[in-house]
Amino acid sequence: MIKINNLKQYGWNDFFEAYFAEYAAKGLHAARVAVEHRNYYELYSEFGELTAEKSGKLFYSTDDSNLLPAVGDWVVFKHMPDENKAFIADVLPRKTKFSRKKAGSTTEEQIVAANVDTVFIISSLNQDLNMRRMERYMALAWDNNVKPVVLLSKADLCEDVFAKLVEVQQRFAGVDVHIVSALQKAGIDELLKYFEGNQTIAVIGSSGVGKSTLINSMLDWEKMNVSEIGLYKDKGRHTTTHRELTLVPGGGLIIDTPGMREIQMWEGAEGLSELFGDIEKLIVECKFSDCKHESEPGCAVKGAIEKGELDEARFKSYKKLLGEVSYFERKQDKKAQLEEKKKWKKISQLGKQIGKEKRE
Ligand code: GDP
Ligand code: ZN
Repeated sequence: MIKINNLKQYGWNDFFEAYFAEYAAKGLHAARVAVEHRNYYELYSEFGELTAEKSGKLFYSTDDSNLLPAVGDWVVFKHMPDENKAFIADVLPRKTKFSRKKAGSTTEEQIVAANVDTVFIISSLNQDLNMRRMERYMALAWDNNVKPVVLLSKADLCEDVFAKLVEVQQRFAGVDVHIVSALQKAGIDELLKYFEGNQTIAVIGSSGVGKSTLINSMLDWEKMNVSEIGLYKDKGRHTTTHRELTLVPGGGLIIDTPGMREIQMWEGAEGLSELFGDIEKLIVECKFSDCKHESEPGCAVKGAIEKGELDEARFKSYKKLLGEVSYFERKQDKKAQLEEKKKWKKISQLGKQIGKEKRE
């Protein structure tokens, strides 16, 4: 078992530290959830990897799965080394979370990954690019305050890589887009920068686009420095334990949970209006049809935020997405206008020329 002296490499930072202080005073310790099992959790802690149960006091009383630990969560636990046991006492506030609605329930959410910093949205270049699907994944990321990065995979199977890159870059101005081929190990090193500062990355995309293959190549990165090699060897790469949160050689972490993979369910949603249907309903109720939802009187959106019925951060991500979309549309408009102008210039030049010829 490895000794984790430095929780920072598992993503610990000032955000969690601030909430942890009161627990530290009570002699509790912090750890990050690596795997969630039915009745217990595997944790990365300062004592190494531990299995821990939920402490009854806190959790038997709740049905709200939102309050239960999920992979990626930072939890506080009571360490009982003599009995070789650990009990999770609480979950520290999440910086970000990916959740989905529980089947058959419209309100109850299930956390599928917590504290993700960046999500790689993967589309395969050997298939038609589904822009609407990418847009939905992006909306989901923004909705959860996670930075989206687009990866176009299986470049080795595509003839017009550049055209597709341009198409995606134009569609999503302001979002990083990368071309990768896990098979040829191309484009993978450029992804290292997203892991810098011990960031946590999740991966999302349809089944078969190459998520597992890509994750495996990232876990193979040979960028380890000496001390990390030591750690890594101790851990044993042949280990049979399956982790859903994994340390990447060279720093940073990857989250890959079954729940994250099932987020594909969202593909059934009809774009933005389904993701942000509640907001779109509110907008219709604003007094002015051109309401910008800033300081206009009779704004239903502001009203709902004030009443606590709408999360302001959610509204911001909605606006952000719309902003990106309309930026693109504006750009298209401008391009169309320019093209139109060019066309007329040509026609008028042609007209002049024909007139000239006629006169001559
Ligand atoms: P996942 O379902 O998204 O996890 O996809 P997998 O990683 O299981 O990959 C699906 C299939 O695509 C497998 O047969 C892989 O060998 C293949 N594959 C993955 N990455 C690449 C790549 O970069 N190039 C090619 N040609 N095939 C790939
Ligand atoms: Zn309004």
